[in-house]
Amino acid sequence: MNNRKNAGEYFGSLVFNEGTMRDYIPETSLKAWRECVKNRSVLPEKIAADIADGMKRWALEQGATHYTHWFQPLTGETAEKHEGFLIPSGQDSFRMEFSSKELIKGEPDASSFPSGGLRSTFEARGYSAWDPTSYAFIKDKVLCIPTVFFSYSGEVLDKKTPLLRSGEALNRQAIRILRLLGDERTQSVITNVGAEQEYFLIRKDLFLKRDDLRLCGRTLFGADAPKKQELDDHYYGQIRPEVTAFMQDLNDELWKLGICAKTEHNEVAPAQYEMAPFFTNANLANDQNQLTMEIMKRVAEKHGLVCLLSEKPFAGINGSGKHVNWSVSTDSGENLFSPGRTPAENTRFLLFLAAFLKGVDEYYELLRSAAAYAGNDNRLGGQEAPPAIISVFIGSELENVVDSIIEGKTYDGGENASLAIGKDVLLQIGRDNTDRNRTSPLAFTGNKFEFRMVGSSQSIASPVAYLNTILAQELKEAADELEAAADPKEALNGLIRRMLTEHRRIVFNGNGYDGSWVEEAARRGLKNLKNTAQTVPEYASEKNIRLLTENGIYSHKEIESRNEIRVENYCSIITIEARTLVHMVRKGMLGAVSAYLSSLTADFGFERKQKEEIGRLGDHLYSALEALEEDLRKLNECGESGARLALCSDVLTADMKALREVIDQLEKRIDRRFWPYPDYTELLFSI
Ligand code: ADP
Ligand code: MG
Repeated sequence: MNNRKNAGEYFGSLVFNEGTMRDYIPETSLKAWRECVKNRSVLPEKIAADIADGMKRWALEQGATHYTHWFQPLTGETAEKHEGFLIPSGQDSFRMEFSSKELIKGEPDASSFPSGGLRSTFEARGYSAWDPTSYAFIKDKVLCIPTVFFSYSGEVLDKKTPLLRSGEALNRQAIRILRLLGDERTQSVITNVGAEQEYFLIRKDLFLKRDDLRLCGRTLFGADAPKKQELDDHYYGQIRPEVTAFMQDLNDELWKLGICAKTEHNEVAPAQYEMAPFFTNANLANDQNQLTMEIMKRVAEKHGLVCLLSEKPFAGINGSGKHVNWSVSTDSGENLFSPGRTPAENTRFLLFLAAFLKGVDEYYELLRSAAAYAGNDNRLGGQEAPPAIISVFIGSELENVVDSIIEGKTYDGGENASLAIGKDVLLQIGRDNTDRNRTSPLAFTGNKFEFRMVGSSQSIASPVAYLNTILAQELKEAADELEAAADPKEALNGLIRRMLTEHRRIVFNGNGYDGSWVEEAARRGLKNLKNTAQTVPEYASEKNIRLLTENGIYSHKEIESRNEIRVENYCSIITIEARTLVHMVRKGMLGAVSAYLSSLTADFGFERKQKEEIGRLGDHLYSALEALEEDLRKLNECGESGARLALCSDVLTADMKALREVIDQLEKRIDRRFWPYPDYTELLFSI
């Protein structure tokens, strides 16, 4: 019997969205709120009071007992501190209270969140302020109010604020361009984002047996299972009933939260899956992706599973990424990256395209930095995910268009397209088949760009903020030039041609996994920033500081503090991994090797061979362990963060790799009954 409700009935039931607000907030206040959001102006006290009251009544009716300002500190996770609605109102009575003040501003203690030196120790206070452009929702009987988070002196301490600011910067510049193109109607321009989320599911009982999974979210050793992904039998394969049950539950929870979970399928690696929501505006998409990651982990636990969001939980098979689909549209829903139906729309498209290509070419180090993360270092450039070199895939058809413009020729694209810039001809660009080229870090897929480099566990806030900002900057430069031109139409054509000509090198449609691309990219002068450490000096470069400060995204201090936090975060992750490996070798493996060796009687030739071989590997294990321990001790002597970064990035990772190689050899040889950890076969092929 089917006792499930029609999904349409509960979609968004835990969200205080516009529909719900209409039932709880007086019409005039709701209208005033919409105006304030649109004009980005301060909400009058009376309106805020009406909203707080409506929100409280709704939340209490849904059974909520607490509320929280929900924010996104620089850990990349979300944070919450619950407050009960309940306050005593006499000897034995109480009432449920939630005022406009509580809605608008909170004062969580900021001292334990990363601030990269922005918050002086004597001033621990941080403030959270309601973000009225994202909806409040209920999670575990707690009313969650999306907020931004900043320090006493006003410095930004979260991931959401820069994202909001970048949206405003892009809006400002895009409107200028649209006006220059004769569009008087569009009032605002927004970015849309759909973040495809990859993840692994494994059995919880097995997860608990591996300290590396528990502490680091990924395996630090493990020999290949006899079968990996070579049969291509998992990708889009039939979904197992246990996983289907998880996905159904996940969808229910996400739908209640108004998250339009739409696509679900098996991914390439065994035990790997993907969920893609329907796209929405960037701010909401970011909130929703944070929630999605959290809900995935919880729902998995209910099913006796663990959801791994790490970028590379298992060596030898694909890791997980997050494809961030990004586009820009007007308030009437016109997609500005959509090749148009009219010549004017085509010109607009080409201008936005050229501006974006120029932006990526000029600021690719910033985009690369946004995807730089300890976990992602294990995935990028490994023939399974984009290389660490940024380029843009635009498909052969559009590449021909770009080349015709550069050469000043009329583009003849066969039956459906011909184009000469400035002439009134139609251009239709089909969704190029080759957009299935999954090797590009940044691909144009018909009417949006797909940033495929981002790691599966990372917040999408910074990657999206930087995509927005570089486009804003290029549109600004274009608008400055066009506004100053005597003949804007003539100038426009020249400008598009120049931008494409000068930044042609960033376009690459070939196979990014191919070794020859590394050489080709070097010839083009594109840097190959192989790991997080290499992005550190690039991130806070002078040109990025100019870009980010001039567009109002960060102050100079905020950029440096963020870089400091990136270094700290990277070093902490590597150090924890190194310590975990030491712990597992000492507490689990050395004893296993000895016990197994003692169990071998050496009465037979094969036993003597094994003894000899395993004994030798045991010696290697011990010396590799001592090398790692010795280098870990050096961390204490590293004064400044640069030295620590170099030690972690160059030395500790190499030590761990060497140690892992011996461990994997031993694991393959030691009897299951002696080896204390589940192997890749058990972990990957048990559901
Ligand atoms: P796939 O990459 O699997 O072929 P799609 O490219 O159609 O699938 O969509 C992947 C994601 O892109 C989905 O989250 C979808 O909602 C989102 N998406 C589709 N169109 C846009 C758009 N114009 N702007 C931003 N995201 C979009
Ligand atoms: Mg896609």
